[in-house]
Amino acid sequence: MTKQIAVLPGDGIGPEVMKEAIKVLDAVSKKHSFDFEYKLADVGGIAYDKYGTALPKETLKICEKSDAILFGSVGGPKWDDIPKEKRIERNSILALRKHFGFFANLRPAILYPELSGICPIKNVDNFDILVMRELSGDAYFGKSTFADDEASDDMRYTKKQCDMIAKAAFEISLKRKKHVTCVDKSNVLSSSILFRKCVAETGKKYPNVNLDYLYIDNATMQLIKSPNYFDVIVTTNLFGDILSDEAAMITGSIGMLPSASINESGFGLYEPAGGTAPDIAGKGIANPIAQILSAALMLRHSFKNEKAAKSIESAVRKTLKDGFRAKDIMEKGKKEAGTKEMGDLIAERVR
Ligand code: NAD
Repeated sequence: MTKQIAVLPGDGIGPEVMKEAIKVLDAVSKKHSFDFEYKLADVGGIAYDKYGTALPKETLKICEKSDAILFGSVGGPKWDDIPKEKRIERNSILALRKHFGFFANLRPAILYPELSGICPIKNVDNFDILVMRELSGDAYFGKSTFADDEASDDMRYTKKQCDMIAKAAFEISLKRKKHVTCVDKSNVLSSSILFRKCVAETGKKYPNVNLDYLYIDNATMQLIKSPNYFDVIVTTNLFGDILSDEAAMITGSIGMLPSASINESGFGLYEPAGGTAPDIAGKGIANPIAQILSAALMLRHSFKNEKAAKSIESAVRKTLKDGFRAKDIMEKGKKEAGTKEMGDLIAERVR
């Protein structure tokens, strides 16, 4: 059966790394007799330049008709000074999250043994965690005000939002090490008090899962001090945003970290955890692995094809094992590969 994929490359390195993800999906298609139909659409700054909006109606329609969305990244200095109400990220990626009701953002962070040399922390072994970031509430979606002398963002959460992410975290922990750490700031913030209460209540339905709690400030320290301690971290939108980037550094680079945003019906958007990397855009050196692994998450979560997802993940691992490295994960004695070459090498290994 043909699966229709909305492909939204966006800005900066987005189109460069997306090209490589499609190349790898084409290899998967041949190997696993799986047909993909790609529907390319503009989003972000490029869409703003063409249509005056970061999320044109045509793009939204394509997403609605698709089986999954493969997203690149959006924004960049070119659009930093556009009117506030047109802001690129808020009007594209946040608008998509709101429109489709993506409430859970799954950010697996794995340190491959081949990359242990570039992990900035000593003695990390078996680092394999999942940050479950709540995606529909918090300061990103609360009322926001801005004046030259005062600005505010409302950190708002409903019980339903907290219950939903808590359930999703416990369910996924059953397939992992059955350990959930709730990260919040309930010693100060009301929204965090509610969040922790809901996680605790949901946790009672999962007696076999070990549940513990950390305040966000302590969690950022513990992730560096004892990274192997963690399995599933369930946290609010803002803290998840920050914590998953910290986790990315333990894996070697943000260029390695994929993510999946899922709604209640299982429809998903898949994107790298990083941004448009304006400092390296157009140079052909961006690491495509985060985008390629995002495609693997799409095969697993939206298309329920574990075998095809694993074939991408194994190909990435094999490429690293064979000594190839994108610039951001380069080490002495390894073979440096550009964006296109990394894509070729991974696609070759899928085939
Ligand atoms: P960034 O993630 O784009 O870059 C941070 C650092 O990581 C840079 O040094 C960059 O070169 C590096 N990096 C990121 N991805 C990489 C990759 N695949 N390979 C190699 N190196 C990589 O974050 P930023 O600089 O804070 O933001 C740049 C722009 O991206 C901003 O406009 C921001 O708003 C936007 N952004 C978009 C998203 C999204 O689309 N979901 C997410 C984060 C940031």
